[in-house]
Amino acid sequence: MSSRTSRVDAAGSVVPPQDTYLGMPPFPTAAKHQLRNSQQRSNLTHATRTIRGKRNALVADKDDWEQLRSAGAAIKDEVLTHLDEYLLQFEEAATAAGATVHWAPDASAANRIVGEIAVEAGVSDVVKAKSMATEEIGLVEALAAADVNAYETDLAALIVQLSADVPSHIVVPAIHRNRAEIREIFATNMGTFGEPAPADLDDDPTHLAAAARHHLRQKFLAAEMAVTGANFAVAESGSLLLVESEGNGRMCVTMPKTLVSVVGIEKLVPTWRDVEVYLQLLARSATGEPMNPYTSVWTGAHADDGPTDVHIVLLDNNRTDILADEVGRQTLRCIRCAACLNVCPVYERAGGHSYGSVYPGPIGAILSPQLRGLHDDVDRELPYASSLCGACFEACPMEINIPRVLVQLRADVIDEEPALKPSAERAAMSVAAAGFSHRTLFDIGEKAAGFAHRLIRNERGITSVPGFSGWFSTRDIATPPAESFSSWWARTGGADDE
Ligand code: SF4
Repeated sequence: MSSRTSRVDAAGSVVPPQDTYLGMPPFPTAAKHQLRNSQQRSNLTHATRTIRGKRNALVADKDDWEQLRSAGAAIKDEVLTHLDEYLLQFEEAATAAGATVHWAPDASAANRIVGEIAVEAGVSDVVKAKSMATEEIGLVEALAAADVNAYETDLAALIVQLSADVPSHIVVPAIHRNRAEIREIFATNMGTFGEPAPADLDDDPTHLAAAARHHLRQKFLAAEMAVTGANFAVAESGSLLLVESEGNGRMCVTMPKTLVSVVGIEKLVPTWRDVEVYLQLLARSATGEPMNPYTSVWTGAHADDGPTDVHIVLLDNNRTDILADEVGRQTLRCIRCAACLNVCPVYERAGGHSYGSVYPGPIGAILSPQLRGLHDDVDRELPYASSLCGACFEACPMEINIPRVLVQLRADVIDEEPALKPSAERAAMSVAAAGFSHRTLFDIGEKAAGFAHRLIRNERGITSVPGFSGWFSTRDIATPPAESFSSWWARTGGADDE
């Protein structure tokens, strides 16, 4: 059995597994392929339902949940409005506490900075805590190109790395795997990365966890440098916070001499009082726990406590462009809890690998096209990877109106494609736009609708129109009423005439 997940290329052919999203096909093609993977669908359904159930029970018990959501959104909006000031305040406080702050305008700058720190520290191996920012910039691959091995220490991220796979969920990167698959991955590949799995390893979760602990312990003891992300950066003290469930992050931020944290600039919060709000929102939304098991905080460097060489890389990578967009900027409130993934019917069926990005699901459908631009079909298709049911908006602890941003991005896709091939749908939309803009044309349209009413005899309404087979394959149009609204209004003045 292969331990890696095959994918499908832009032409629809199955291709071998790979450890990068590059070259992955747009959502419709990828999802079609992933939907055939019934084992993955079953793994995902089980996992997302379990997390969702726990989250719902905790939220139902929290009387001030809606107030917390609003407070979380308001704090982030305040930060985003004054981001320049908070960033400078954070840099000043972190520097005064002994950290070195770097500014990375894009992914390649961030990778270069981390690579140079590794070279300067003279290390060839680093341990790494799970971090979406480092996934976003492809740090592990960039370090490998500089002959530095970065070892994932989060259990799910380790499973992904050992199987040369890519993450499929923000919080649980190997959510698409079941324990039989994980046993196979450990038994086959652990030895090539270090301490091998026990020869008699079975798929008992306790034994799998013990194998991972033993394997990782050797990495922690040997590592002289760690790379992490951070969930929050506190402007008033220059501190970073990392929340996690396994303790591997705690090991990363305390054991090695050199610590580098790559942090998106939107992770700022003004004060420690604000952190209280997010710690209540994040754990409940992410894993359905009242409080996450490990919360690590570090402020600068200290000679006799933890790492002595502490670096913070503040990552922009198009975030300031998102900030400039009135509708899209709410995306930057995201705290990467993945609650939107766990409620999304599209994600549950299509799986995380269909989104062609480290950010899958509803948040990925709005974040990836904004971070990367609408330059290719992968990003142009993402805003359509949604039924707009609104479940993500309801679940989001940061009140991000994902459907609203999706609709805006769909409009951007259309606006950015003026040279689009003409299509029947495009022509019909132009006629509709003209009809709604001119009274005479509108009246003609209403008369035509009345005429259509007399022609259409079946109960389903209009079920096909030549040239629109694609559109009508999933939609019908109700039979137009016999009398138009204008005519009814003129006749009754709005009074009910039933
Ligand atoms: S968009 Fe909202 S629900 Fe989704 S990951 Fe971000 S904060 Fe969580």
